[in-house]
Amino acid sequence: MNDKHGLIEQHGYIKQQQDGLYAIRVRTIAGNLTSFQLHNLADLSDRYGNGQVHITTRQSVELHWIPEKKLDSIFQEINELGLLLAVRGPRILTVIACPGIRLCKKGICNTKNLATQLDALMVGRSQPSKTKIALSGCPNSCAKPQINDIGLHGVIVPTADSGCIECKTCEKVCKFKAVSVQNGKPHIAVEKCIGCGLCVRICPNCQHQFQFPQSHQSKIPQ
Ligand code: SF4
Ligand code: SF4
Ligand code: SF4
Repeated sequence: MNDKHGLIEQHGYIKQQQDGLYAIRVRTIAGNLTSFQLHNLADLSDRYGNGQVHITTRQSVELHWIPEKKLDSIFQEINELGLLLAVRGPRILTVIACPGIRLCKKGICNTKNLATQLDALMVGRSQPSKTKIALSGCPNSCAKPQINDIGLHGVIVPTADSGCIECKTCEKVCKFKAVSVQNGKPHIAVEKCIGCGLCVRICPNCQHQFQFPQSHQSKIPQ
């Protein structure tokens, strides 16, 4: 391994308190691994470490008790699984994300796609300090974007249109009392609306009653 000290400083090798032993932190994209990768990481832990796999608070996977002299070969085997080591120190760290619209019925945006793009563009860049990024698919904020250095969550911005049948379902579903139906039309109090999109999904005629940016419209599950 070239410049081993530099790699250890920057990447997912963490010195354990036990002399000569390391934890290796493997990077995921939004916490996703294939069953093949996970199975083989478990096998690496059996062969090089203590037979355990540790899931970190930032959706990475750690293998512990790896002898220093084995770092080169385990790094190569991790690479062969199509995986990279996590990043450490004053850099942009692994992007974490909730499942988003791919799985969650409340999801508004595709967190996995965004995490993949951000991972390719930003992870590992030098920064003045550790920089953490978290993505949530909707304002419920399950990935806690508010307590990361950069946090994003999906929103739908409903705007009222004509043709309402005045069923008032949107009024009932909004926990923030941001919708009121008046004179045959829903009115949105933008200062109360958090952009959860529930009123859009529940409206029996939502494609006509609410307008929202095309990028959001195309992501509403049918
Ligand atoms: S933040 Fe929203 S989309 Fe993501 S898991 Fe939570 S409820 Fe689902
Ligand atoms: S749910 Fe749709 S149709 Fe019903 S009152 Fe609201 S905007 Fe009108
Ligand atoms: S998007 Fe959510 S918060 Fe905003 S008006 Fe609709 S239901 Fe209420």
